[in-house]
Amino acid sequence: MTVYAGPVFDMAARQFEVIADHLSIPMDERERILMPKRAITVSCPIHRDDGSIAVFEGYRVQHHLTLGPTKGGTRFAPGVDIGEVAALAIWMSWKCALVGLPYGGAKGGVRVDPRSISIRELEGLSRRYMQEMIPFVGPHTDVMAPDMGTNEQVMAWFMDTYSMYQGRTVPEIVTGKPVSSGGTLGRREATGRGVAHLARRVMSDLGIAAGGATAVVQGFGNVGSHAALELHNSGIKVIAVSDHTDALYDRNGLDIPALARHAATHGGIAGYSSELHYDPAAILTLPCDVLVPAAIERVIDAHIAENLKCHVLAEGANGPTTPEADLVLGKRQQEIFVIPDILCNSGGVVVSYFEWVQDLQQLFWEEEEVVRREYQTLDRAFDQMVSRAKKDRIPHRTAAMAIGVEKVRAGKITRGLFP
Ligand code: GLU
Repeated sequence: MTVYAGPVFDMAARQFEVIADHLSIPMDERERILMPKRAITVSCPIHRDDGSIAVFEGYRVQHHLTLGPTKGGTRFAPGVDIGEVAALAIWMSWKCALVGLPYGGAKGGVRVDPRSISIRELEGLSRRYMQEMIPFVGPHTDVMAPDMGTNEQVMAWFMDTYSMYQGRTVPEIVTGKPVSSGGTLGRREATGRGVAHLARRVMSDLGIAAGGATAVVQGFGNVGSHAALELHNSGIKVIAVSDHTDALYDRNGLDIPALARHAATHGGIAGYSSELHYDPAAILTLPCDVLVPAAIERVIDAHIAENLKCHVLAEGANGPTTPEADLVLGKRQQEIFVIPDILCNSGGVVVSYFEWVQDLQQLFWEEEEVVRREYQTLDRAFDQMVSRAKKDRIPHRTAAMAIGVEKVRAGKITRGLFP
């Protein structure tokens, strides 16, 4: 029993067991690789607009510091708990190692519905959370970024709060900042762009032409909306989209740029069209070429996996597919090409790494350079995953995670155990 126990952490632990068995990692080494280095829980009191005081619980989990600072987003969501944050930190570790970044994984979270507080309260909460984390983070210790429920503005407040305490501007303390505050071009689009890039690559390998192809996107936040826009711009018809407010379906393809504009001004896709309304629960099993789950964890269970009717499963979210669903997908490998989350959505942290490097060097790149290097990094990891899967006759997720786990393990073995 651990403090992290819960459905999401259990899922990360079960996935790790599969990899550890595959790599024949001795039992007494496993806990050292899996269990987070440290976890911080803080109380964040803020003044509400009505003059009262409210306290929100915040977390940060740093999985391992073997390969460099830890890296990962901060999530503001009502259901966040320490176990979920720990699982997300562990996935960040495998992700960073898979794509070759000099980072361990981390994740943070605040238990709050960001839509239930005002902008002024959100600023107070963001600043107080970062202030509580100051002893535990740093540009060479732990570098935060956006995740569900946070955005560039929240990163700017984090950066400003940290900088005010240091007495100088420290842009490299967070990534995913506005370009006007030391962010990089191409970070906002990076995750969705990477998802679409890999999906297009698999489609062309499978002989599916973009013209006439269809996609379904679950989630229309930063990842889902940019993935949908990229797919749409490539000539792929995005026939269905859902978010926390609604689901829409149009067999002729939705007008994604118009939908994105609507969501940006209304906070969601609700109100865009009543005729196109569709059952959100049924969206994942619609027939399509590319399915992009880009919302939350554990949305594809064994039952849904049995009923998926896509050719490519491009996982934009972290942990959308349960281990039970993975067993089903293992049997459907000829029908469905899985691009696992730690590869598929890694464009975000890859470009975060570029932002950190640019901030440290104070030398900024053109957007073309950012995108070129992002795709190059994703393609290299994709090739490694596919050849490993073929060589070992294992599913893509197992291959991708095995490459990540192996790198973390190698770092621990060569550095040795202190003292
Ligand atoms: N939150 C994103 C993820 O899950 C990005 C992390 C980062 O850029 O550090 O990968």
